[in-house]
Amino acid sequence: MARCKLEIDNPKFLDSIGGDQADKSLLQGLKELQAKLAKDHRLSTFVNHPMKGHPDLQNRIWKWDFAPEGDTSSTRKGWRIFAYVENPKAEEPIPATPFYFYEKPGPSGNPVPHIAEALKRFLRRTIQVRADDRFKRQYDGDKIISICYECFDTTISTDMQEIEIHESTHECS
Ligand SMILES: [Zn+2]
Repeated sequence: MARCKLEIDNPKFLDSIGGDQADKSLLQGLKELQAKLAKDHRLSTFVNHPMKGHPDLQNRIWKWDFAPEGDTSSTRKGWRIFAYVENPKAEEPIPATPFYFYEKPGPSGNPVPHIAEALKRFLRRTIQVRADDRFKRQYDGDKIISICYECFDTTISTDMQEIEIHESTHECS
């Protein structure tokens, strides 16, 4: 069992699904999904989405398929939701912030650019709240990942001094 906390109450996410106007069956499906993932995040066709070309996002984009329990509509194929997991090794329940979803089958072709772009937009909206931090730091084993909130330029190093030098001299491109 690997429990996960799907943060569907995140205000930015709620906003993105229409706030008070959100589709009722979508909300119901989300609540059921949240309850399932609280037991085991691998329930409901879990995929740790491979993010080719985005080393900072490896293992951090999780996706699930869901539909409301008992929805027998043949036209409704349900939804696919993507969540950002800042620290996949966090203590359980592992926090996962949903940032992107679509009604299946969704866009065709390689989904990675769509996902990366959606996450960028989502984070950008989240950042305005804490604009004082210019960089976001993530830790992956002994690696430090520093992401610029302005241009999303990413630097990876095992040397904290190197990260600090980078951050103090960084100019957005
Ligand atoms: Zn920058």
